[in-house]
Amino acid sequence: MKSGARVEAGGPADLRGALLAWYGKNRRDLPWRNSRDPYRVWVSEIMLQQTRVAVVIPRYEKFLNKFRSVEKLASARVASVLAEWSGLGYYRRARNLHAAAKMIARAGKFPKDAEGWRELPGIGRYTAAAISSIAFNEAVAVLDGNVERVLRRLLGRSLSSAESWKVAQEMLDHARPGDFNQAMMELGATICVPGQPLCTECPIQRFCRTRGCGKAGASKPRQLKRQIEFVLATDDGCVRLVRRSTDASLMPGMWELPSCEAVGSTDEVLFSVRHSITVTDFNVRVIAGKGIPACGGTWVKTSRLSGLPLTGLAKKILRKARIIL
Ligand code: SF4
Repeated sequence: MKSGARVEAGGPADLRGALLAWYGKNRRDLPWRNSRDPYRVWVSEIMLQQTRVAVVIPRYEKFLNKFRSVEKLASARVASVLAEWSGLGYYRRARNLHAAAKMIARAGKFPKDAEGWRELPGIGRYTAAAISSIAFNEAVAVLDGNVERVLRRLLGRSLSSAESWKVAQEMLDHARPGDFNQAMMELGATICVPGQPLCTECPIQRFCRTRGCGKAGASKPRQLKRQIEFVLATDDGCVRLVRRSTDASLMPGMWELPSCEAVGSTDEVLFSVRHSITVTDFNVRVIAGKGIPACGGTWVKTSRLSGLPLTGLAKKILRKARIIL
């Protein structure tokens, strides 16, 4: 290791050995860790980009059961990919996944290295390195928020993004790059956590310059709270829905319930749900549609809902109202 990445005790090989041994015994049993198939690795990395592990777990196998291969995904309609993605948020990922699947299917093979993966839509430096190191054993390091935090604490100083990438690459185990990358991320997610790290359980504590005493912990961004209202109108086996603009930056082309800006105090509140999008927590009031002035949208048969790309919030409301399962 260079770049000032010398550690307190032992050498880089000892650190790699300690981290990999810990990972072998303690790694979480996650469904995407049972395979090195590039398609499965790629889908998991895209789902995990902005969605929590607990949310991804039940959706991962379901998605792969529906789209069993990259060719199946490539030949699917974008609406059915979006419908399967519903609830995972950040729908641009699903559109990019679909577009990239078409490119891979046309080429007849997966890219063979991180550089090739980066040419596909929706794949940046981190994702390309993660896929290529796990699926193809390419010796390229990953750097996400978790790894960055571990490196800062380990070295006891702040690092620019370029330095972090360099140190991560120098620290990488070239014999087992995929496992090493996952071990670093696992350490950051479960032991070297934001706030107070669990240093007494850390496998690389003896190499660490801060051991929980540094100022390197990243605090969770503050959650903002907002109240919003949606109208639930049903009639004769239909529900009123609105399609979001295909140019919308969030969830383009997805279907949701109509929202009304001015809801009076006399309107009937059916129920409330909580919903989070990035750093904002929403308290969502669902208002009975009767008597509310037209809020736009169109009547959609409830029997069609399962094939429609609904936003996660729309699904949550329709489930609570027992309109869908
Ligand atoms: Fe993080 Fe503590 Fe381990 Fe250092 S000893 S890497 S601060 S968990």
